[in-house]
Amino acid sequence: MSKTTPEYHILSLSGGKDSTALALLIKEKYPEIHEQIEYVFFDTECELEETYDYLNKLEVFLEKPIKRIKPEKSFDYLYSMYKFLPSIRFRWCTIYMKTETFKKYMDSKIKSGCSKIHLYIGIRADEPERIENYQSKNLESEDGILNTRYLLAEEGFFEKDVYNLLETTGIGYPKYYDWRSRSGCYFCFYQRKIEWIELLERHPDLFEKALRYEKNAGKNFTWCQDMSLEELKQPETVAKIKAKHQEKASKHKEERQTLFDTLAVNDVDKTCLFCHK
Ligand code: SF4
Repeated sequence: MSKTTPEYHILSLSGGKDSTALALLIKEKYPEIHEQIEYVFFDTECELEETYDYLNKLEVFLEKPIKRIKPEKSFDYLYSMYKFLPSIRFRWCTIYMKTETFKKYMDSKIKSGCSKIHLYIGIRADEPERIENYQSKNLESEDGILNTRYLLAEEGFFEKDVYNLLETTGIGYPKYYDWRSRSGCYFCFYQRKIEWIELLERHPDLFEKALRYEKNAGKNFTWCQDMSLEELKQPETVAKIKAKHQEKASKHKEERQTLFDTLAVNDVDKTCLFCHK
């Protein structure tokens, strides 16, 4: 959307399945919103190439461009200031690379004359606790300018419906879902150990980059809670983690008939509201 209107509609895409399904739902069922909405991706520049590929593909399906917005300060710059890794306790990565960038972008819309901002969020009907979590963060501004909409939830979309929509439109899931349960930075500390191993095997350059950040941060800081990446990449550790994962996976084997079931089992952590989904 290039021209400013008093009402502004925005969907922040994460490169994950739910926000993608929401964009496709809007295009299909809410053409008047699709016409006005701006699809935006807040790009940390630390995403996997699979995410960028998926967004490029999505643009074709939406027949609209996705605006890429980069943070004012890069991860490297922030890291050189903090000198320690972001973590679940202090998620400076999300704050400065996503939330602040988002707020500034919204401010620019208000300054240029927007009186109402409709923010569309990809939370499903089977995630009421996430809606509550969002609402508790007081995203709604006191002046009433910001209005959040949960169309997936309103339309009764469960995880299976998201899967069906992505399959029937033909876009499918992002490639990284073959080995990782969420979108976000390649070094995201929400990753499970098995996902770090997949990163090591599929993107060894990125794994090494993450390892260098960790080494430079000093021995008190590790991406995983109880192990450094140097320890994790040792063949015996890799074998142990893989065996443990295999054991867990075979316990769920009976129920795992479809990709949807696999993802449901793997999708264990829903705490990063801005980056994932
Ligand atoms: S994806 Fe993970 S590492 Fe990246 S900004 Fe979000 S929480 Fe931080």
